[in-house]
Amino acid sequence: MPRASTLRIARLAALALVLIVIIYKVTNPSSLTTLSRAAGYHEKLASSPGPEQKAPVTSGDKPAAPAKEEVKSEEKPAVDAKTPVDKGKDYIRANATFVTLARNQDIWSLVKSIRHVEDRFNRKYHYDWVFLNDDDFDDNFKEITSSLISGNVKYGKIPKEHWGYPDWIDQEKAAEVREQMRQKQIIYGDSISYRHMCRFESGFFFQQELMKAYKYYWRVEPDIILHCDVDYDVFKYMEKNGYDYGFTLSLYEYIDTIPTLWNSVKKFIKEHPEHIAENNLMKWLSEDNGITYNRCHFWSNFEIGNLDFWRSKAYGDFFEFLDHEGGFFYERWGDAPVHSIAAGLLLPKDKVHFFDDIGYWHVPFTSCPTNKADRLKLKCSCNPTDNFVWKGYSCTPRYYDVMEMKRPSEWHQQS
Ligand code: GDP
Ligand code: MN
Repeated sequence: MPRASTLRIARLAALALVLIVIIYKVTNPSSLTTLSRAAGYHEKLASSPGPEQKAPVTSGDKPAAPAKEEVKSEEKPAVDAKTPVDKGKDYIRANATFVTLARNQDIWSLVKSIRHVEDRFNRKYHYDWVFLNDDDFDDNFKEITSSLISGNVKYGKIPKEHWGYPDWIDQEKAAEVREQMRQKQIIYGDSISYRHMCRFESGFFFQQELMKAYKYYWRVEPDIILHCDVDYDVFKYMEKNGYDYGFTLSLYEYIDTIPTLWNSVKKFIKEHPEHIAENNLMKWLSEDNGITYNRCHFWSNFEIGNLDFWRSKAYGDFFEFLDHEGGFFYERWGDAPVHSIAAGLLLPKDKVHFFDDIGYWHVPFTSCPTNKADRLKLKCSCNPTDNFVWKGYSCTPRYYDVMEMKRPSEWHQQS
């Protein structure tokens, strides 16, 4: 046979071999797994879709979870076009984290919250999660929480000076107050730890070492429910719109927990007029232009906010002033009215955002997107008749009025 023909046959055979290999790979995608590890995210989606892409570890504080690979390969492919897919390793996140204050014994209430947040939002974005505690977190807490969270997880111990009595507090007087509040059956009225918690959330959560790296946060408590999908990056949304504080529920505070809070606020306003924003939410907080407080506050067990606001000079002065007034211990000032009054007075009102699309529950109130079309689109699990937003004890209708916002068309059915 002539040499040229032999060469041609050899070339054809090589080509056929390559084609066979390609056909085999295409018809047998699982064989791509090894390829994809080297090739990157998109190929990996084809073989083992799901939320396995972790954020690049920045601080090496998270132990590797050994069983992860096997679990992932059994996951249902995320090919359903309706399921928003993982954003992948190339996704550029905002500088943001979840933050949860908790005790070790809160673990089983917390896992439910974490699953809701991961399932409805974070499995697509992999934001970090910071846990804070006045005590050491135990291994059980760390192991379980880190197994559930798709971003980096960090655990911080709160320093003593952020969880305790400042030296100007008369502890005997504080104890007498607690006894009186116990007799009056005021909720958490006799609790010391609850007061430390409220003072911590008011003045110190944003100062923790682990929080210093971040700009935005989403506060999550144990035993909450996220009722709807959150299909966009809420942190980037805050950033893009210049929002500093986001809420889902607002209501009236128990007056017995804050009898003199507004007096202190008025003293602060006199002392620091430079910190009061023009075009603020005073009309939402007061029906008489600041003489009295109507007790409206954002429910701070849910917050998405800008940490730089809490770290601002204005808020620093505000907290320090209130802290010296003593009401965290001589009354039972909550972080909710403290945060809300600050957001309402120190920020222009267009910096505050109502997340009408985040279905949320914390005992005993529900926020549920008002219009049916939104609930269907976001795959909500809430019963619209439970929506607290338009009910009599909610301050959100007043917020709509003050902001001159148009109410959603179906609000009447839920009032
Ligand atoms: P409620 O929502 O006002 O009824 O108060 P919670 O009991 O939910 O407490 C508010 C938040 O602070 C939750 O995230 C709790 O896990 C946390 N918390 C409350 N008390 C303590 C405490 O003594 N130590 C720690 N580490 N966390 C606490
Ligand atoms: Mn709670």
